[in-house]
Order: sequence, then structure tokens, then C-alpha cells
Amino acid sequence: MHILGHTKTLSHLKQLVQSSQLPHALLFTGPTGIGKKLVAHHFVQTLFCEKQTTSPPHPSPLTPHSSPCENCKNCLRVANRQHPDLFWIEPEKDLIKIDTIRNLKNSLALKPYEAPLKIAIIVDAHCLNIAASNALLKTLEEPPPDTVLILISSTPHQLLKTILSRCQKIYFSPLSAEETREVVRQKGGKIDPTLILQSGGQPGLALSFSEEACEIVKDKILPVFDAQPKDLLTLFSVAEEIAPEEELHKPILNLLLIRWKEKILANPLAGEVKKFDAIEQALRRLDHYANPLLTFENLFLNLCL
Ligand SMILES: [Zn+2]
Repeated sequence: MHILGHTKTLSHLKQLVQSSQLPHALLFTGPTGIGKKLVAHHFVQTLFCEKQTTSPPHPSPLTPHSSPCENCKNCLRVANRQHPDLFWIEPEKDLIKIDTIRNLKNSLALKPYEAPLKIAIIVDAHCLNIAASNALLKTLEEPPPDTVLILISSTPHQLLKTILSRCQKIYFSPLSAEETREVVRQKGGKIDPTLILQSGGQPGLALSFSEEACEIVKDKILPVFDAQPKDLLTLFSVAEEIAPEEELHKPILNLLLIRWKEKILANPLAGEVKKFDAIEQALRRLDHYANPLLTFENLFLNLCL
């Protein structure tokens, strides 16, 4: 798990540990698809790696190396999310429920099994529902000893303010075009230079673009918006064409998001911001298994207004 970019973030995290100032709760935030989860894995490995843990029972202070070995039993178990002191939580159908947080709370109340501390990673923490948020808040208010919670979210404004105020924020910046290209290459993705630029330093996004999605957006969808009057019928036939092709849905919507982000940056009109929101809403609806045909028809209608 070699990490490309994020040098400052990694050294900041290391600094926190070395100076014994690692807080009980961190919030990893920044655009989607730039490597926040990867850095979380890497960070846990640097703390749990066998090559650097001092002998139990009192291994503190933690002494992380700049890079974990990635081959020892602990590094491998962290990579596979099978380490008994690592709790990895992800939303199910866009939701993190109270039961999940209650179980986490019970697990964190116990002493670490092997590692110097227990670490819980909550991916897409903005998916915590209100009951789960309140349960988590209690843990954040009275954190059990030897625990660190890492919340990950690209939309932290959707989290409760009381949760936000208890987490130390760690900001992630988009990667450079070169770093993005390298990540995409390593993952075996396409390296179309335009795509790299369009992904805005978010390799996860670049990897989600397929050639077919790009062509549909470039040749069939965007020309309609640039013409007057706008030919809604053409867009409806595009909606029919893409509705059955599930693998095209997210890439197309993400490409539209990028296009609208450019528009807003060039000319921040309220109408364009609304359209941007409509695209984000379509992405969320599809995550909730909305009817794709209706979702795309409704979106195209909104984008033509
Ligand atoms: Zn290791």
C-alpha cells in the first residue's frame, strides 16, 4: 500500500503520535476518491506493525516508523481488516445504524487485545443517522482509554456540529495530475490525460470513468445543454439508453458533476448551483435503488431549466 502524495498529512499524523498528542477522535476530510481510506489503513499499519511495536504490556509511547513493513502479520491483518484491535465500519445502503455504533461502543470498552490501542475507522461518517450520531457523541464525550476514532467524510457539514467539534480535522488535498496519473496506472486504469485533469486530483474518480461514459457525456449529453432550444427528447432517449447499463450511471453523473463544478467556478449563478445539487441528488437516489430511467429523465429535465 504505497501512498502517493499526502506527504504533509502523513507527517502531521506521525508528529501527533510522536509528541503523544494523538487525539481520541480525528476527522479525515477532503474530496472523494483521493485516498483518505488508504491513508487510514496505512496509519493503522504504522501503529500496529510488528517491526516497531515495543514489547507489551506497556508499549507506549507509540513509536511509528515512517512506513510500516506491510509484510508482517499485523500489517497484513490491518490490510485485510482482520486485526482484532481495528474496527472498520462502512455504511450499508448509505446508512450507519445505531446498532453498529452500540456494538462498536461495547468493543471499545474492552482493553486492546494485542496492539497498544484500539482504532475504529468510520467510513462515510455523514451516513450516521441521528440515533447513531447521538450514540457516537456519547463515546466521543467520554472516550474509553487507549482508543482512537477516525471518522472519514467528504461532506463533513452533514455531520452533527457536536460531533465535528470533538474531532481534530485532518484535511486531505487533491493529488497533483502526475500523482493521479501514477495511481491510475498502478491500478491498471486508463491514462487519458483529459480524464486525469477532469478528475481534479481524485484518482478514485478517474478510475470510475470509462471510455464509454466519457463518450456519452461528451457526444450526446453536453451538446444538448450547449444548444438552444434544448432538445429534451434527445436527452430522454439517452436516458433510455443508459438506464439499463448500471456501470455507466455513476461515471456519467460524476462527469456531469465535474462539468458543473467548472461552470460554477467560471460563473457562480444560483441556477447552476441548483443544477449541481440536482446531479448530487441523482447520485444519492441511485444509491438508494431509485428507478434509473426516472432518475435520469428527472435530472435531465432539471438541467434543462
Ligand atoms: Zn509490519
